[in-house]
Amino acid sequence: MNFQYWNPQIEKMPRPELEALQLEKLKAEIGHALRTPFYKSRLGSVGIKSPDEIKTLDDLKKIPFTTKHDLREGFPYGFLSIPKEEVVRLHASSGTTGIPTTIYFNQDDIKRWTGYVARCIFGTGCDKHDVFQNMITYGLFTGGLGFHQGGEEIGMLVIPSGAGNTARQFKLMQDFGTTVLHATPSFLLHVESKMREAGIKRESLALKRAFAGAEPYSEDTRRRIENLLHIDVYNSYGLSEMNGPGVAFECQCKNGLHIWEDGYIAEIINPDTLEPVKDGETGELVLTVLCREATPILRYRTRDLTAFYTEPCACGRTHRRLRRITGRSDDMLIINGVNVFPSQIEEVIMGIKEVGNNYLIVVEKEGVLDRLTVKTEVGADIFMDDARPLNALKERIRETLQASISISPRVELHESGSLPVSEGKAVRVKDTRPKDV
Ligand code: AMP
Ligand code: ZN
Repeated sequence: MNFQYWNPQIEKMPRPELEALQLEKLKAEIGHALRTPFYKSRLGSVGIKSPDEIKTLDDLKKIPFTTKHDLREGFPYGFLSIPKEEVVRLHASSGTTGIPTTIYFNQDDIKRWTGYVARCIFGTGCDKHDVFQNMITYGLFTGGLGFHQGGEEIGMLVIPSGAGNTARQFKLMQDFGTTVLHATPSFLLHVESKMREAGIKRESLALKRAFAGAEPYSEDTRRRIENLLHIDVYNSYGLSEMNGPGVAFECQCKNGLHIWEDGYIAEIINPDTLEPVKDGETGELVLTVLCREATPILRYRTRDLTAFYTEPCACGRTHRRLRRITGRSDDMLIINGVNVFPSQIEEVIMGIKEVGNNYLIVVEKEGVLDRLTVKTEVGADIFMDDARPLNALKERIRETLQASISISPRVELHESGSLPVSEGKAVRVKDTRPKDV
């Protein structure tokens, strides 16, 4: 195979050199962190008052983990290390309970992030001859702008089509000869089925490859998309706390995702004991950003479950590979690529006075897409045979939920006392999507 590297010197750097580079960047990052209110106090509490106290990469372990809860507590500026006038952009995580977790960038941060995404895209064989249709949400979510910048950096023609509207997506693919797509795996499957419905012949399109991420999917799903669309599909992993896309990506060997260790330090821990797992064992990924000045984040518990592949990759890159993410160590749901915590849904429905105490969140596959249904009981004083007020209530619940979680759920109202009550710990979520990972 003819491998191409965006930055060969870094991508194939011998590990001792790579680790020396990590140490140097870690010290700089600790310097940035000490300028934030949060880490000044957190690092101070373990006696770290200067970057010089970090002498080896192992010293990272002296630093306590950072959690999503910490990021929320620090909202809005607890993690900001630079004057506000130096900030040029913010992004936020798609899954939030009330308070968003916000990440700030200065101009150099954006340039560095762009470089990592460009490295990922170029490594799959793309170049400036490609036409890249970015079929993912633009906005606060990092996937849109992140890939957009990376695509432009390597000179591809980028079509900022955004997610949804398959008819328009096909038109763009046909008009401009799209060769590369980016979407969630479920949207790629949806696009394929709509394409068949619309009678569009695969041969009339110039598609060659796609990047799929933002939600877990299996090797079988990858193969299915590849076979249906006759393209190569590459797994793309990232999270807003670590800039967004460009954290880990598959190379042309499609056997694990190279995590860019000159930009991120990866650890894998047992989520119960918080101790490192043995190489090759599954655990929770913990990440430290090494390439961002405005919002340093150290030892972030991603909650994503994965493992390291330790043997070298045939592509020659020295950066370790992660196994595709198989799930989470918390209760976060990923519904068509959007992160949702059950607690967010509870917060909304319990805030509506006509709603009773019991509820059930159902996530299932409808065709190739995920479908969210929220079943709630109404209060005992509501008559179930009067349809008009019930429909109005349903619509109000749906709208309020949509405003909070960015997904429009189906809402079902049930008579008071009719939803199953579990003995012991309540089962509030029924996720029937196939777990074929
Ligand atoms: P966000 O911060 O909104 O971009 O969401 C990041 C989360 O999406 C990650 O922590 C993962 O749980 C999930 N995610 C992103 N990419 C992938 C992927 N390729 N496979 C599995 N989960 C992913
Ligand atoms: Zn490789």
